[in-house]
Amino acid sequence: MKDSNKHKGLRKKLVLELLNKGIRDEKVLNVINLIPRHFFLDKDFENFAYIDKPFPIGEDQTISQPYTVAFQTEKLKINTGDKILEIGSGSGYQTSILVSLKADVYSIERIYNLYKSSKKILSSINLMPKKIVWGDGYLGLLDVAPFDKILIAAACNEIPTKLLKQLKIGGKMILPIGNKKNQIMNLITRISENKIKKIELGNFLFVPMLKNKI
Ligand code: SAH
Repeated sequence: MKDSNKHKGLRKKLVLELLNKGIRDEKVLNVINLIPRHFFLDKDFENFAYIDKPFPIGEDQTISQPYTVAFQTEKLKINTGDKILEIGSGSGYQTSILVSLKADVYSIERIYNLYKSSKKILSSINLMPKKIVWGDGYLGLLDVAPFDKILIAAACNEIPTKLLKQLKIGGKMILPIGNKKNQIMNLITRISENKIKKIELGNFLFVPMLKNKI
């Protein structure tokens, strides 16, 4: 895999586009500028890598739109060493962004082939998270919890209760909530054992979060 000057130029343009669309966190923009998103797509489609759109990655799934990746990451305000649970590794691109921000990342993917391929790419570019797990994200990772932040990259009908319980008090979770066609991004802060604060952050479109690994 090659990261040419052309790719780097296209990335710079993408970063400017994200800035225009309202992404302001310099650390986030910086890692988007650094990470070759085309490595996460099939070689035949690398020209699509720096267009601000989602793109199919097989298995009926998509790599998230760069704006969405930047948005979810920015809202979580990632600090070095944060323990983060990501649900839906997909291509591994969002995972690579979180790892580059020096967080301790644990990622769960339901589809075996995507789990395998994302692991391969991430290790080839030296951005392996602490752990990638093939499993059902609704269950979280009890043995690693509690987490500082949880990022869900698939649409939920409601806040998954098991995941909320694995969030530290003071921790934040970002997730799209809604049906197949209409979802609203929600930023949840767990303010005490039984209390949350919920902020709605506009409409997005994700593939649905499904139960059980395949
Ligand atoms: N952020 C990823 C794309 C996410 S697409 C990227 O940048 O490539 C959503 C992903 O969530 C898909 O890969 C899908 O298989 C996965 N997914 C759906 N339901 C899941 C579940 N219950 N547990 C874990 N992963 C799930």
